[in-house]
Amino acid sequence: MSQNSIFISFENLIKEGQKAFLEADSKDELEKARIQFLGDKGELKAEQKKMATLSKEEKPLFGKALNTAKQALEEAFEEAKTKILAQSIQAKLKTETLDISLPSIPNCSVGALHPLTLITEEIIEIFKRLGFSLIDGPEIETEYYNFTALNTPEGHPARDEQDTFYTNLAPHILLRSQTSPIQVRALETHGVPLRVMSAGRVYRNEEINARKLPFFHQFEILCIEKNINFGHLKWTLQQFLSQLFQDEIEIRLRPDFFPFTEPSAEVDAKCPFCKGKGCSTCGGRGWLELLGCGLVDPNVLEMAKVNTQEYSGFAAGLGLDRLAMLKYNISDIRNLYSGDLRFLSQFSGLNV
Ligand SMILES: [Zn+2]
Repeated sequence: MSQNSIFISFENLIKEGQKAFLEADSKDELEKARIQFLGDKGELKAEQKKMATLSKEEKPLFGKALNTAKQALEEAFEEAKTKILAQSIQAKLKTETLDISLPSIPNCSVGALHPLTLITEEIIEIFKRLGFSLIDGPEIETEYYNFTALNTPEGHPARDEQDTFYTNLAPHILLRSQTSPIQVRALETHGVPLRVMSAGRVYRNEEINARKLPFFHQFEILCIEKNINFGHLKWTLQQFLSQLFQDEIEIRLRPDFFPFTEPSAEVDAKCPFCKGKGCSTCGGRGWLELLGCGLVDPNVLEMAKVNTQEYSGFAAGLGLDRLAMLKYNISDIRNLYSGDLRFLSQFSGLNV
C-alpha cells in the first residue's frame, strides 16, 4: 500500500463521516452514524484491522493517519451532538410558549372566604385602626388561666363539668371556654400599658341547635392604661359598631355581671337593619344584643401584678358566629360549619 493511498482512504473516510454526522437530523440518526463510523464494528475499526497486513515502515504512518481520522470523526460527532441538543431545546421552547392573549377558561370557579373569616378580619382591621394589637393563645388551657386568674374562684358554677370540657391529659387541663385567658397571658408577658385584641375558638358543653353549638368563636379587646374610665369604653364600642355597620349606631348599656369586670354591662345596638322600628333580624325589638363589657375588676389586675393605684382598664367581648349571622342574614348557626358549597359560594367575591 502506497503512502498516498493510505491518506486518500482516510481522507475519504473522514469526509463521509463528517457528512453523515452533519446531515443527521435527530438523536437516532446521529447514533446510527456514530455506530457506522466510530462503533466497535464500524468503518474506523475496519481500517484499523488493516494494520496487521502492513510492513514495518508503513505501520507508523498508518497509525498516525488512523489517529488523525479518529480525532476528526470524534470532533465532528461532538459538534453534531451539540447542534441536535440545541435544536431540541428550541423546539421544546416553541411548544411551551405561553400565549397570554388566549381567552380565559369559561366558568372557572372562584373560591370564597368563609363568612367567619370575613367578619373576623373586618373587626380586626377596625380595632387595628383604634390602636389594638392582635395576640393569640392556646385552645387547651389550664384551669388557672381560664378561671382562677379571671376572678372565677373554685366552686363557681361556670367551672362545672356540665359547662366546661375538661380533658384527661392531666388534672386541671381544659378546652378554653373563653378567649380571656389570652388577655391574662398577655398581661403577664407584656405588662402595662396594654391595648390588645384576640379572636379564636372556644368550647362549651352546649346542646346543638340552630342557635348553639359546643364551640363558637369569640372576639375580645383589653385596654389597660392610666385613668381609663367607662367613657373610654363606650366611645371605643360606638366607634367599632359604627365602622362595622358603616352607619352612626346608637348603643345602650344595661347593667350585667361578669366575674372579671366590675362594673359590667351588656351592650345593645339600635338595629341597623330597621333603624329601631323592629324587624325579623332584631325580633321586633329594635335593638340587638351584641356584646358584653366592663371595667376590668381590680382583682384580675392584681393577680397579674398590675399596680391598680395607677392603672385601670376596660374589656369587651362578643360572639363572632352570632355577628356573622346578623351581618349576612344567616338563620342557622350550623350552616357555618356544614361545609356546604352551595351556602359558602354565596360569599364569593366578598373581601375584607
Ligand atoms: Zn331590626
